[in-house]
Amino acid sequence: MVNRHMKSMYDIGIVGAGPIGGFIASQLAEYVDSIAVIEQHKTVGKPVNCAGLITPRVFDTFSIPKKNIVQNEIKGAHIYAPSGKKLSIGNENVQALSIDRTAFDQYFITQAEKEKASVFLKTKVLSVQREDHIVEVICSNNQQFSCSCLIGADGPFSKVRDIFGFPQPSEFLRGIGAVVKDISIDPAYVHIFLGCDIAPGFFAWVIPIDKKGTMARIGLCTHQHEPRPPKYYFEKLLNKSPASDILKSAKIIEKTGGVIPLGALKTTAMDNVILVGDAAAQVKPTSGGGIYPGLVCANQCIPTIKKAFESKNYSSEILNTYHEAWRSDIGRELSLGMQFRKIFKNLNDKHFEKYIEKFNSPAIRNIITEYGDIDYPSKLVKPLIRKAPSILRVVPKILK
Ligand SMILES: Cc1cc2nc3c(=O)[nH]c(=O)nc-3n(C[C@H](O)[C@H](O)[C@H](O)COP(=O)(O)OP(=O)(O)OC[C@H]3O[C@@H](n4cnc5c(N)ncnc54)[C@H](O)[C@@H]3O)c2cc1C
Repeated sequence: MVNRHMKSMYDIGIVGAGPIGGFIASQLAEYVDSIAVIEQHKTVGKPVNCAGLITPRVFDTFSIPKKNIVQNEIKGAHIYAPSGKKLSIGNENVQALSIDRTAFDQYFITQAEKEKASVFLKTKVLSVQREDHIVEVICSNNQQFSCSCLIGADGPFSKVRDIFGFPQPSEFLRGIGAVVKDISIDPAYVHIFLGCDIAPGFFAWVIPIDKKGTMARIGLCTHQHEPRPPKYYFEKLLNKSPASDILKSAKIIEKTGGVIPLGALKTTAMDNVILVGDAAAQVKPTSGGGIYPGLVCANQCIPTIKKAFESKNYSSEILNTYHEAWRSDIGRELSLGMQFRKIFKNLNDKHFEKYIEKFNSPAIRNIITEYGDIDYPSKLVKPLIRKAPSILRVVPKILK
């Protein structure tokens, strides 16, 4: 990835070389005359602020090669109540994959560069303004350029979102994590820990990342109003929680963190500007996973940009077709996710104990294993209610 000299004008400018910006660049570079990707960090995909768990669907849908990216296959999950009581779901099918996020992000940028996208690393977008249907972008190192369309793929704290006055996500989860070695777990199962004293407002995780079960990415998120810092809960996770048993010999080799925006924005396009990925909070509110929904939405922006390029018309009228397209594709799933999130935020430790116990019947476990889909969690609701109506007695009123 060699930095080129910036031209004064590009068709498309993309802020952010994360998976979403990289994917869009890789899909558009061949089509448009010129495209610039601006990334503040010196290496694409670093630092890693992600647990790196995605479904095989991501590779199939977006034709991504698994080689050098997939680290491990996951076939099930152990979910723990605060007391340590456990619900295990899974079978012989691969439900999820743990990935090398750096390799994943770099794959897209390498593809984009092959198609002649210009990638500028160690370059931070400082300010942007729109004048006469042209967006002027001022970057660090005294660099600047103009473009017909600016794509904000600049993550949870998107500058493009803020400068152009797009709405804000409804919530930001605060995350903390680490890569650990010297543990001994079943490599095919992730561990999820629930509890108001474990990860208030969300959950903690242990995700095996090698085939021997000796290394894992571990971490947790808390809701944004939690007065104690995530570090406090991370120490507890290691030393005083149902997770400490499997983490007692763990040695931290790398620390991670990050923020997850929730509540997909109601506006994601205006004249000459669109927002995609975390910048638009296109994230699953139930799991905090943003890679699949971000890519789905990014994929929906490709035909819109092509149409705008062909007609040389980047007005909100044209760019809004992207907004409509992603909403009709995955918008409903994301808003149902927000409804679940509202319910989840109000659960206490007594609820967690009750649900883990109630869901721990062979019939319900089978339904979860058969119908559970990390990317489309709402698909589980109907079969659960149809095949195990007794759970209606324990679910909160709002679900009924
Ligand atoms: C703790 C944690 C765990 C997670 N676990 C998972 C998981 O297991 N599975 C999953 O699917 N998702 C997970 N996510 C979410 C996932 O990481 C994001 O949804 C995904 O990275 C979004 O991609 P993006 O390209 O939109 O944004 P990002 O990956 O954030 O990329 C944005 C890029 O823009 C750059 N940038 C920002 N501002 C500027 C600027 N002004 N100038 C130049 N460059 C700029 C940044 O440096 C960055 O490279 C997790 C997130 C966190 C915090």
